[in-house]
Amino acid sequence: MRLVLLGPPGAGKGTQAYRLANRFGVPLIATGDIFRRNVEEGSRLGVEAKEYLRAGELVPDDVVVKMVVKAIENANGRFVLDGFPRTLPQAEALEAELDRRGQPLVAALAFLLDDEITVKRLAGRRTCAVCQRPYNVELHPPRQEGVCDRCGGRLIQREDDREETVRHRLEVYHHLTQPLLKFYAERGLLREVDAEGTEDGVYERAVAALADLGS
Ligand code: AMP
Repeated sequence: MRLVLLGPPGAGKGTQAYRLANRFGVPLIATGDIFRRNVEEGSRLGVEAKEYLRAGELVPDDVVVKMVVKAIENANGRFVLDGFPRTLPQAEALEAELDRRGQPLVAALAFLLDDEITVKRLAGRRTCAVCQRPYNVELHPPRQEGVCDRCGGRLIQREDDREETVRHRLEVYHHLTQPLLKFYAERGLLREVDAEGTEDGVYERAVAALADLGS
């Protein structure tokens, strides 16, 4: 299985990517997570990426492409990719690398979601600083404001989930990433999923959209 996931921030791609990678038994490569981990660790890559993440800007293509090529090598060419590609040059670089390996993509799965729902979901997103459990102040609030139901930890907001940054990330998505839907449609790889509704409902639709690809 070699699958890329596309869609605006807040479409629930991260959760679906995790579930799909488990289902197909392949490694998940999530570029945002790799960057956040590196920022936390203060690695060279993290130092390079930090300001871009904070501002909701894209990290330069050459930096991301190098990181992803390495991750694909480590994954032996089987993966679910979440958060990459996000620009046309990234999609072209991925295609060239997979052609070189003789291991082309089997599909690009795009999650579709209305902008206003995206803003609501992301600007309301909170995560427990201790156990990482996700909440949403509007959609799934905790019983006590700012406190995790499960472990009592403090709920925090990702810095790039503030409303003005979310709107900026959406603009970046429409401008740079949305053209990739056409790129993959032209190659006969595009499949689309309605990302509105419950996590389980979206997952079922995603699995159905990929059903003919086997497990
Ligand atoms: P995400 O968790 O996928 O929303 O990614 C968080 C941030 O990481 C993005 O806003 C970018 O700053 C950076 N990032 C993740 N993936 C990419 C990519 N493919 N190209 C450029 N920047 C990326």
